Amino acid sequence: MAEKNVVVIGAGVAGLTTALLLSKIPGYRIVVAAKHMPGDYDIEYASPWAGANYMPVSLRGTDAAEWDRKTWEVFNKLALNCPESGIHFQVEDCEIRNRSKDVGSATADWFSELLSSSPWFKDVVPNFRTLSKEELGPGIDSAINFTSVCINTAIYLPWLVSKCLENKVIFKRAVFRHISEASSLNIHPAGSVDLVINCTGLMASKLGGVEDKSVVAARGQIVVVRNEVGKMVNLSGTDDGDEEACYIMARAAGGGTVIGGSYQKGNWESQPDPNLAVRIMKRAVQACPELTGGKGIEALDVVRYGVGLRPVREGGTRIEKEKVGDLWVVHNYGAGGAGYQSSYGCAEAAVRLVRAALDVQTKL
Ligand code: FAD
Repeated sequence: MAEKNVVVIGAGVAGLTTALLLSKIPGYRIVVAAKHMPGDYDIEYASPWAGANYMPVSLRGTDAAEWDRKTWEVFNKLALNCPESGIHFQVEDCEIRNRSKDVGSATADWFSELLSSSPWFKDVVPNFRTLSKEELGPGIDSAINFTSVCINTAIYLPWLVSKCLENKVIFKRAVFRHISEASSLNIHPAGSVDLVINCTGLMASKLGGVEDKSVVAARGQIVVVRNEVGKMVNLSGTDDGDEEACYIMARAAGGGTVIGGSYQKGNWESQPDPNLAVRIMKRAVQACPELTGGKGIEALDVVRYGVGLRPVREGGTRIEKEKVGDLWVVHNYGAGGAGYQSSYGCAEAAVRLVRAALDVQTKL
């Protein structure tokens, strides 16, 4: 059977994971074309800014929960067997702390499954347990604990590129105004393109032929520090307003500790807000004094202040196929704050749609 020519638009975690899974199946010549590539830091490119960790916020019984469940299987194997991917288990476990007073806040709603004492993933992640009353810190009403992973995105994204290159995927810089340009601008060496996979994240809201206005930015501000604690902590809310969050995670392989954060919907501001940065650092040191050995935020050794925009889509990640004019398109965008933890499940679903659209009978 003749090979099928595919262009993946986007080199974030969605585009790279989808290209990698498709490249493992014979019969496809794949080009990944994107404005931003691993190594770039830009407000239109969410993936480098993520923590990134595995803390499912998907609701029980949904497709999203299934995507997260499948992704854990892969992350677990990578953390166990593949240190060069930049994924590691936290030295200590991941602790989710719940304050009753946060009920109904934007952050607590976002984390609702995570804050449940019996979330769907309790049998998926290792060592899940509910903390006893005696183990809770001041102001905390309940908490769960489990083993999780943290991804050093500065290692993981280039690692995905390397795995794709091993499978002969071609990478190109390109900027598209309309999705059809991916098949018409001489992007693919074959000249013709059978299918385009749209992994443009937040920019799906602006790309011609897609212009999905249900994708909005949820601004996340972070601080990367050299201080280490080896554990992951997440709070149900903060006393600094509905749009702010408090989390701490230690990246693999010298990636430092990421402290956050915020969840500011509709806000595209690319520059870090210095006042918010101070609040983020204060909350992190309060939640985890061992970060600076009890010495306060002055003892935080800052690597970088950063801002990324989560591509949040009303109704969840769009994984669908459709014809745009004569062109087959498979969409995989809009993962919000879950682009890593759902990446393999979403990519697998997208690959299934590619095969259905092109009627390729190869077994996955
Ligand atoms: P992106 O990474 O934004 O990539 C989009 C790609 O499309 C880019 O290559 C871009 O150049 C390209 N593109 C777009 N439009 C065009 C065009 N017109 N022409 C050419 N190329 C185009 N997720 C987790 O799972 N765990 C976490 O702990 C976590 N923490 C986060 C913390 C922060 C602060 C932020 C901001 C996000 C976090 N996320 C986390 C969410 C995660 O980062 C995103 O869901 C994920 O990165 C989205 O990936 P993507 O590939 O869809 O989009």
